[in-house]
Order: sequence, then structure tokens, then C-alpha cells
Amino acid sequence: MRPKTTEGLFFAAALAVCLLAGCGAPGPAPAAQGDAIRFLNPDSSYGSGTEAGYYYFTRDESGNSLLRFVDYATLQDVPLCSQPNCAHGDESCPAWFAYTGADVSVCAGDDALYIVYPGVPWNDWAFEAYGEKALPRIVKCGLDGANRQELVRFGAAEAFTCLPAADEKNLYAVVADYGEGTDAVKQIVTVDLATGGVSVDESVQRPELRIAGAWGRELILEFSTGQYSYAAYNVDTKALRELKAAGGSVGAAVGEGVLCRMDESAGAVHIISVEDGSTTELATDLLDRYSPEWPRLVAVLDRGYLVQGGEGGSQYNYLIDSEGKATRQELQAESTDDHDKMRMLQIFARRGEEYLTSPSRSYHTSRTPGPGGVTYGEEVADHAFALMGAEDFWNNAPNYRSVTRAG
Ligand SMILES: [Zn+2]
Repeated sequence: MRPKTTEGLFFAAALAVCLLAGCGAPGPAPAAQGDAIRFLNPDSSYGSGTEAGYYYFTRDESGNSLLRFVDYATLQDVPLCSQPNCAHGDESCPAWFAYTGADVSVCAGDDALYIVYPGVPWNDWAFEAYGEKALPRIVKCGLDGANRQELVRFGAAEAFTCLPAADEKNLYAVVADYGEGTDAVKQIVTVDLATGGVSVDESVQRPELRIAGAWGRELILEFSTGQYSYAAYNVDTKALRELKAAGGSVGAAVGEGVLCRMDESAGAVHIISVEDGSTTELATDLLDRYSPEWPRLVAVLDRGYLVQGGEGGSQYNYLIDSEGKATRQELQAESTDDHDKMRMLQIFARRGEEYLTSPSRSYHTSRTPGPGGVTYGEEVADHAFALMGAEDFWNNAPNYRSVTRAG
């Protein structure tokens, strides 16, 4: 059950990096194609947005998770629970999810939520403590959190390497099986949303394989041997198409039909077409105007490209417009932690010309249980969300529409 490599830790590590970097990603789903696949957490693995709002988990002092909803119409951030006088503290609450060895994630589909338990094949103790609940599985519920039911589960030696993508009929995910041999066997799994039926394709064996995005009927797969590489995988034909020129020590961001990354030495943006693999280069004045360390392109926005990098001990957003003109964003989130150096504004979700961001945050300690009564403490951020017009974001104008957090 214990993996022979540490590759399985990648999912957790990738989540952490995504949270810090405001993980880059595609814009809205390609609307023209009815059966197009959508990556359900395009802006950040922290949560998942719809037109109506944003779903995300918070973690309590004991490691249990509470599903919350930011309602864009009312600007309220509330537990996804309609029970009167509910304390949101145990199994009787539809928004409460017990800790079972790893943090859960939420993905919002068109008419359902999918709660992903990643699996913990490297943690024998979790299976002793939580039994089958520690298995990698996906629980489905309504957009209101009601009618929770398990859609699919995998084996104890398996783990999801990333969050899933979906079309109207299926979920698509990558599951790594650590059961046999030295290297984990990667499985691209197709899960029928109606029946939970699973089909498995093991034809793509690449290190650190994960889904980075989707376009049309293709998943955009990322893999890494220190340098990130990409390929497009057609879910119908199972054909794999390499996307060349996307290699680099920093991952690319996925936009609508494009992969984009920063050429750190030239300060240029490389834009790779998913459709034909061609690369165009956008020269920028980023390195003429600023001196960011480790600049990385984290998101493709309607107006240009979001790059993050460090300067003078702090991390900043750099906004690069479609002409290649770079502007450092001076807005920074307030934080209760003076040592918080990653205070550039994160984009958690996008809705039309508005971004969901977090202009301030505080921290609380969450202690998750471990073997022998030991607990592991971790500082967990509590975000005070706000909506912000894209134009204000690009113009350094702090016109936040604050979300009120309740419960
Ligand atoms: Zn409740």
C-alpha cells in the first residue's frame, strides 16, 4: 500500500503551489461546442465557480471540512446548509465533511457538485483510523449540497493526481496506482456521471501526469521530469498529441485553446495553440521596467497575461496586456500574518468582467490527527472575498465589492 516513489505527494504539493501562485488557467468554457470538456477548477484548486457563485472548503480546528458558498447575487459567504439552527459541526450537517486522511476538494458541474477525496496510499494509519472512508472517491451532491451520494471509488493503493474535468456525460480524471512495481501506473479514467461506471486507459504513462485543462474533446495533460511538458489527449479516440515548445522549469497556464508560458530570460510570452501546436511569441517590456525573480505566467485573462514574481522580498502580480506592455500591480491583500510575503491578489474565479478575489485574510490553526494520538498543526487562511471589475484589477483601483462572511 505504501508507494515506492514519492510521486503521489505531487497532488498535495500541486495544490499548495496553486494556492500560493493563484494557479493559472483557462478562461470560461468554450461555449461553441456543446460537448466540450471543461476543467472545473480553472482558476485555482482552492474552489470552483459557477455563474451563480463560488464553492470552496474551509477547515476547522480538527481538520474537518465545511463546504461554503459565495453567492454572487447577495454577496454573502455562507455554509452550504439550509438546516435551521445548524451548528455545522457533525454528520447531520449537509455541508460538513469529516477528516478522513486528506483534504477534500470541490468541483462544480452544471447541475451537481463533485467532492473529491484524493486517496492516501502512502498513509497506512489513515486506513486503520478511517477504513473505507480513506479511499480515493468522488461524492456527488446537488448544487445546494443536498442528496449526497458516492459516485465512484478506487482502491487503497490508488490516488487522484489532480482534479477532474467533465463534459455533460462523464468526468475525466487521472488516477495513479501504486500497487505494483517501482513506478505508479497512470490511468486516465472516464466516470459516467449517471451510473458511476468507470473505463480505464493506461496508454499514457508519463511522470507526474495530471490534467492541466481541456479544449474541445481533448484533455490537456501535463507531465514533468523537472521540465514541464504537455500533450493533448482525445477522450473519444484516446489519441495523444504532443504539444511541443511548452517545456520549461515552470508550468504553463492554460487559456482558451492555448498554453502560455513565460520565457524568463527574454521576458517574452510564448503562446502555443492547442489546435495546431504552432507557437507565437509576444515580446514584452517586463524585464525593461521591473526585475521580477522567477517570473511565472499563472493565468491567461481576457485582457492579457497574469505573471507573478518576487521583488524586494515580496511577491507581485505583473499584468501584461495584449501589446506586451507590463504593469506591476500595487494592490496587495491585507494579512494578519506579518511574514506573509505572498500577498498579491489571487483570482479565485471569474464571472464575465468580474474577478473573485480576496483583499484580506486571517489565519487559524487546524490540527489534523495522526498515528499515536499525535496531531499536525497547520495555519489555514480564512479569506475575506470580494468581487472586483477586471478593469479595476488592471488599473490598480481597489474598488472591491465585499462579500460578507456568515456562519
Ligand atoms: Zn449545517
